[in-house]
Amino acid sequence: MNSNVPFSIDLRSDTVTGPSRGMRAAMAEAEVGDDVYGDDPTVNRLQAVMAERFGFEASLFFPSGTQSNLAALMAHCGRGDEYLVGQQAHTYKYEQGGAAVLASIQPQPLEHEAHGGIAIERIAAAIKPDDVHFARTRLLALENTFAGRVLPAAYVLEATAFAHARGLRTHLDGARIFNAIVKLRSDERAAVSGFDSVSVCLSKGLGAPAGSVLLGSLPLIRDARRWRKALGGGMRQAGILAAAGLYALEYNVERLAEDHENAAILAAGLRDLGLKVELPQTNMVYVDIAAGHIDTLIEHLAARGVRASIGAHTRLVTHLDVTRAKIDLALQAFREYPGWSR
Ligand SMILES: *Cc1c(COP(=O)(O)O)cnc(C)c1O
Repeated sequence: MNSNVPFSIDLRSDTVTGPSRGMRAAMAEAEVGDDVYGDDPTVNRLQAVMAERFGFEASLFFPSGTQSNLAALMAHCGRGDEYLVGQQAHTYKYEQGGAAVLASIQPQPLEHEAHGGIAIERIAAAIKPDDVHFARTRLLALENTFAGRVLPAAYVLEATAFAHARGLRTHLDGARIFNAIVKLRSDERAAVSGFDSVSVCLSKGLGAPAGSVLLGSLPLIRDARRWRKALGGGMRQAGILAAAGLYALEYNVERLAEDHENAAILAAGLRDLGLKVELPQTNMVYVDIAAGHIDTLIEHLAARGVRASIGAHTRLVTHLDVTRAKIDLALQAFREYPGWSR
């Protein structure tokens, strides 16, 4: 790898986005207080804005989405309870199994459908009867977007209504729910209707340096606030971070459409090289790379300032620090790779 090349095009994730000048200014000017006492006016404003926008009674600011999801699961489920979740879902697979490890909540992982949700019949079959042998099934957890795919709105309504009819609660890991909202030209309230709680990341495509918001009823958020403190997430002058979130909500939501457009352009260009590429729905492009090319392609791209998580099933992510011009440069770097013909 050529260490003289700065990585000017980073396609590994939308988490790599840096705070813009305007966002930094908003952070510098934020009014703050001790949020564990509930005294931070900027945190309180972010929580009020998010609750209003998504149509929930209350909301709570967290340092990370992992902690927001975990506190939500702990607010819904007690020790020995169970939640139904996708095999590849973030709360199950990418959070070290925190629900089981830290909260004594049993996950029941289930296969996904192609759209990213879990088939209603599969959910139905996994709900345990009231029997001393079984954990108590309490919660259905879905994720939207899932691997860059937008859950169909009709499916979400059907699955959440079914869960409620069977006495379950519903949680949405909406880390990238704004990508789904922009893609569907939906609105916040419609996109999350049916869920008892929703976790939203501000630190992905929205470009804030840190922070997630959990949405729910007043009693749920009261419980989640207690768990957040136990999990070490009680922050003090957190308004500095909340100001970045408020800025992101104002300036960085509609522009997600540009990331989706750039993903489509990137996918089309890679397909022209003869690669097997999934048609992207939002800001993630999945492309298959033959095993023999992985190491050489990583090196080739790195030398051209393109950083990407190249693997057999490569994920390339577009975001606000990857302009259209950078997409063209990235494609040029892929095109120049001499190995495709072999
Ligand atoms: C990023 C992400 C989260 C939260 O991750 P943190 O890095 O802890 O903020 C949760 N779910 C999904 C689907 C994510 O992509």
